[in-house]
Amino acid sequence: MKKRISVIGYGGQGAWHCDRIMASEVCELVGIYDIKDSRMQAAEQKGIKTYASAKDLVSDPDCDAVVIATPNDVHCDLAVMAMENGKHVICEKPVALSVAVLDKMLDASKRTGKLFTVHQNRRWDVDFLAVKEVAHSKELGEPIRIESRIHGSRGIPSDWRCTKAAGGGMILDWGVHLIDQMLQIITSPITSVFCVTTHITNQEVDDGFRLELGFEDGKSAYVEVGTYNFLPLPRFYMQCKDGSLYLEDWQKEAKLARLKAWCEKDVTPVQNAAGITKTMAPRDSLTLDEYTKPRPASDAHDFYRNFCLAMDGKATQLITHAEVRRVLMVMEAAFESAEKSQLIKTNI
Ligand code: NAD
Repeated sequence: MKKRISVIGYGGQGAWHCDRIMASEVCELVGIYDIKDSRMQAAEQKGIKTYASAKDLVSDPDCDAVVIATPNDVHCDLAVMAMENGKHVICEKPVALSVAVLDKMLDASKRTGKLFTVHQNRRWDVDFLAVKEVAHSKELGEPIRIESRIHGSRGIPSDWRCTKAAGGGMILDWGVHLIDQMLQIITSPITSVFCVTTHITNQEVDDGFRLELGFEDGKSAYVEVGTYNFLPLPRFYMQCKDGSLYLEDWQKEAKLARLKAWCEKDVTPVQNAAGITKTMAPRDSLTLDEYTKPRPASDAHDFYRNFCLAMDGKATQLITHAEVRRVLMVMEAAFESAEKSQLIKTNI
């Protein structure tokens, strides 16, 4: 039998969830609630049932689970209320504005025995999956450093995303995805966090950031979000012991260069404006294998398939409590680092 799911918050992302649930083979949409009349009317026009309040929605016995797709500052109260009313919960990212608030949600899940997970849907992004695959297969040897960037050019949206109280800013909005992805690739404990935020279009919250992570096993990672970049830098760059990976953007295949032989017989010096260099001269094809990787297969609806199976105890939820807590701890350390302009020593 299909799982019955309702959605609280029918904005951009709530509507996205409704469309996916309505098209799903594993779940069906029961109804929605939004505080805005215009959004309730928009749902009704699509034939979607609306509830008079969030309390009414979570009290409906004909519903198994609730998706919370409101602005970030109200996730906790709604998620706890849903679990206390016997519903499993899928919460949008970023799950909360602090670890302390997340812990209230995790505590409610433990107390009520209801599943609680977070929609970290970008674990299904093919660009990320390509990098993860190469890192874990050691096709280019052990990774040394991974850089993950996302560059836009429109600043941050002018809605709740530009206010601190609602949980706006790019560390919380996009950082949560890129950090979550990075911690799926590098699993060693994080020993240091250094973060610089940017405020080109907004003073109240960060409109971008540059985050450097150090890991116990010696690897390092760099995560950058920019919203004022009219020519974007590549989405991923990975240095490994035996080669490098370059991925321009989500639409493209990853380019790999694998070292065949360290030594070259005769390096032809290259001439640049004011001198010659052998050190920085391109390698010859005898020492490098250069090729592209086909884009991995991915189906983001596996998130729902997994959660519906987990409701029946037939699977373990893919996005775990420990993972979401760890990502939030990194974001807290990033905020602290940016505020103090200091590197923060961690054991995360
Ligand atoms: P939005 O502003 O488009 O929609 C939010 C909706 O929530 C609005 O319609 C608003 O009226 C409603 N709302 C506010 N407070 C409410 C309350 N107390 N009860 C009921 N409804 C309430 O924002 P959005 O872009 O849809 O973002 C919503 C959430 O989804 C955020 O947490 C955001 O970070 C997340 N999101 C996730 C992804 C993703 O890829 N996973 C993408 C976009 C947004």
